[in-house]
Amino acid sequence: MLWLPGPTHVRPEILAEFAIPPIGHRSAAMDEILERIDPHLRLAFGLESSESGVGVSTSSATALMEAALLGVGERILCLVGGSFAKRWCNIAKTLGKDVYELPVDEGQVVNDMFLADVLDHEGPFDAITLILNETSNGTYTDPQPIVNVLQAFPDTMLLVDVVSLVAGAPIKLEESCIDFALAGVNKALALPPGASVFACSEAYVDRVRQAQRKSWYLDPIRMLDGHRERKTPTTPTIPHYRALARQLEDISAGVNLPADQRRDNAADNWQARYDVHARMSATVTQWAKKRGFEPFPNSQAISPTVACLKSGAIDPKRLVASALAAGEEIGGGYGPHKASTFRIGHMGDHTEAELTNLLAVLDECCASLV
Ligand SMILES: *Cc1c(COP(=O)(O)O)cnc(C)c1O
Repeated sequence: MLWLPGPTHVRPEILAEFAIPPIGHRSAAMDEILERIDPHLRLAFGLESSESGVGVSTSSATALMEAALLGVGERILCLVGGSFAKRWCNIAKTLGKDVYELPVDEGQVVNDMFLADVLDHEGPFDAITLILNETSNGTYTDPQPIVNVLQAFPDTMLLVDVVSLVAGAPIKLEESCIDFALAGVNKALALPPGASVFACSEAYVDRVRQAQRKSWYLDPIRMLDGHRERKTPTTPTIPHYRALARQLEDISAGVNLPADQRRDNAADNWQARYDVHARMSATVTQWAKKRGFEPFPNSQAISPTVACLKSGAIDPKRLVASALAAGEEIGGGYGPHKASTFRIGHMGDHTEAELTNLLAVLDECCASLV
């Protein structure tokens, strides 16, 4: 089974959606697919009441990291505590933005006093980029303390990457005053790679609509309007839209939950899915401690969807290879942590029973390696 921190395992029912022949993207049938997607996607982003928009992009998530920055202004504060955060920072620099890079110790969350100080002395900033779930090192950042600090800086937009988090933990765009949130579909949404989703605040749309956006394909307003008006600007990845509709409906119906956890109400089934991931995270952490693998992140910042564990005396490459030989594909370390960590993506539609199985296999692998 595929336990990478993306792409992750895709259920056969979802794969089957990709075998359905294409339809015209200007057809009533396509409009219907979009109608099916929207209410559930709004739920995933915590947009139950507002008019804020959601959209789908025919691209991987990185394209939306670029799109999010296009019209927000020039002065950008990038919080950098891992490889994906660094990528966003590099994208901002590539776009010619005036970037202030704030390093955050990997595995830690940003210190809010320190952040307030930077905002005071280096600003004003037009936007902040923040990765909520740094897949490269398994670190989760609760946005709330940052949101609290930002209350004194209402003109600074909060842009968040929730790539490996959406559908794995609650995202509360409205409540957390997030202005733009983006995610690929191949992580906690458990679809094959090739599309991404986003949501944005009305304030974001108002600002960006008036600004110059130096891209046509990646213009977030063009994507948003196209989605809302059911006129996608370009030919979308129709099979992904179809599979996304199915997957979102399935999550709302609790299809992938054990029968005794399934509820009648969509919001409850989303919460039950989040609970599954939280329990899986706790299970892996417990197992890791027993095995002598220390979690890479601070204990307060352990991701609900991806475990990054220090491999100690064991060579992570050998552990990954040994698991693969036993039919389980886990992730190696990422970037600077390649030689010292390994990662288990317990995201998407993985079940707790499958995780128990995986950990038993890893136990055997560890025994054979020492
Ligand atoms: C996977 C990932 C991305 C990038 O996704 P691509 O599919 O490579 O575009 C960005 N941010 C995070 C946190 C990710 O996990």
